Amino acid sequence: MAKVIIIGAGGVGTVVAYKCAQHPEVFSEIVIASRTKSKCDKIAKSLNKPNIVTDAVDADSVPQLVELFNRHKPDLVINVALPYQDLTIMDACLICGVHYLDTANYEPKDEAHFEYSWQWAYREKFEKAGLTAILGCGFDPGVTGVFTAYAAKHHFSAMETLDIVDCNAGDHGKAFATNFNPEINIREITQNGRYYREGEWIVTKPLEYHRTLTYPGVGPRESYLLYHEELESLVKNFPTIKRARFWMTFGQEYLTHLRVIQNIGMARIDEVEYNGVKIVPLQFLKAVLPNPQELGENYHGQTSIGCRISGLDKEGREMTYYIYNNCSHEEAYKETGMQAVSYTTGVPAMVGAMMFLTGKWRKAGVYNVEEFDPDPFLEQLAANGLAWHEILNENLEMD
Ligand code: NDP
Repeated sequence: MAKVIIIGAGGVGTVVAYKCAQHPEVFSEIVIASRTKSKCDKIAKSLNKPNIVTDAVDADSVPQLVELFNRHKPDLVINVALPYQDLTIMDACLICGVHYLDTANYEPKDEAHFEYSWQWAYREKFEKAGLTAILGCGFDPGVTGVFTAYAAKHHFSAMETLDIVDCNAGDHGKAFATNFNPEINIREITQNGRYYREGEWIVTKPLEYHRTLTYPGVGPRESYLLYHEELESLVKNFPTIKRARFWMTFGQEYLTHLRVIQNIGMARIDEVEYNGVKIVPLQFLKAVLPNPQELGENYHGQTSIGCRISGLDKEGREMTYYIYNNCSHEEAYKETGMQAVSYTTGVPAMVGAMMFLTGKWRKAGVYNVEEFDPDPFLEQLAANGLAWHEILNENLEMD
């Protein structure tokens, strides 16, 4: 029996609220708080449960967060606002003695820069306060880290290569839309790519490397090498890994729009003056693009995300391993009113919170998900709508 505050009432926040509400034995009281309270009220109304209340907070402000936490006295905060708010929320957790979980690593607003150093720097403070912070508990980062930990625990004596493969084979019928917050999404994709090889990070131009990969239940899709934040913690926590990469599928139509957006300066994250007002072009673009939360109704097809790993098995023989989940946009929408990208992020966030609150993932400090026992998490993941599958010793397509 515990009280949680969910901060953020977007696509992911909606799924987290739906999923927590399905487990009153764990989440006995739920507070949904965000910048725009009416969005929290809408979620609470659709859930219509007596144990859910809403509140307003600007999570960029530590004093406002402290007031919020003092008003509700939660055990755990599930941060599904934007990555910009991670540090203010962690600061408020330390002041009020609240445990912490998020789905994306901190990014400064004025620089698209992904690394854990800012949040790992809180490790000692959380340890001293006897508080747990669980970082990156969505799908990727999140389940991909747990999949890797599961592979290490049950299959490998030494993992040597890791390729995280993320395919969205869905069709929402729009010429261009992003599947989660457009500002965060476009910042991520337009960055240089980066992958890990023998202790070094190799930088590539944005979307420079691509190859055709075959996804189960989907078929072949062009997949592009990106930098993704979980690579940083996974190569640190599994030091036998010699090469780690991340691949994501994009359609030609999407890439053409993205190129135009960049070429005309609409992906800029610095301020420009327009009619005497300072605006950030990418933030303006977000305001005119389709809202990711409204894509669900006509979304068909599925996502397929997983880890392809090679190395030595427990007996020292070479082996390959592929662990993945496929999630249907239609099924996700039927259950929560949100599409599969929000669903595959929100379900693991709820499961991570459940792991913490039931004592299975509880230790003082700041941790990435792969530092906990993967077994109870994956059991609950499958039980809560995200079944996973394993393929042993087949061609990984990953030379
Ligand atoms: P949305 O943009 O749909 O929702 C973000 C929510 O946060 C909105 O309700 C917004 O409020 C709120 N918010 C923004 N700034 C503040 C603030 N200063 N104070 C309080 N609330 C604020 O995003 P998504 O739901 O798509 O994504 C949520 C998070 O999930 C992001 O951090 C994203 O990076 C992460 N994510 C992680 C994935 C993973 O697999 N690990 C995959 C997909 C997303 P308002 O409505 O007022 O703007």
